[in-house]
Amino acid sequence: MEIPNDNSSFAEINDYISLLFYHRNQNLLETLLRNPFGEYSIKKLEEKGWKILIEGIQDFEGKVDFGNKIIRVSESLCPYKRDKAISHEILHAFYGKRFNDKNFGLEGLKNNIIVEWTGRRIRASPSLLATIWKTFSITPRIYDRASFLATQKLESSQLLFPSFNQTYNFTLMD
Ligand SMILES: [Zn+2]
Repeated sequence: MEIPNDNSSFAEINDYISLLFYHRNQNLLETLLRNPFGEYSIKKLEEKGWKILIEGIQDFEGKVDFGNKIIRVSESLCPYKRDKAISHEILHAFYGKRFNDKNFGLEGLKNNIIVEWTGRRIRASPSLLATIWKTFSITPRIYDRASFLATQKLESSQLLFPSFNQTYNFTLMD
């Protein structure tokens, strides 16, 4: 089976990850099971002084600057892609070198898709998305049900129209 990439659908990525689980051939998955990413991970990054900057960068969607503890995400992305990129890069920041997907060999491609699979599930979690927005001062944006529910967890949620509940009755994963 061909290794999916960042543009693959969530269903394709999920099929591939199921195979990795079945064959137990990827250490990263074991790492994720033993030490899952959660609210605590976000707090930990904040305590360590990490920042997320939305910047006018062209050549990449997201990137981790380990030296300066900065996650850089391109400001040209639509809100869904912005949050998807943040959720992917925040995993690199949290797990460090173990989650390296910068080499172009088979391992790098596999690692990338494990990070992407995990990142999309973080992005689709209203509580984690809200905590990321709040902790790193990311402007909340509503574009699906998960992001709508995330705004409900923020203090300013009363500013939103109740009818949004009806409109955003779907969760983006692709
Ligand atoms: Zn990556």
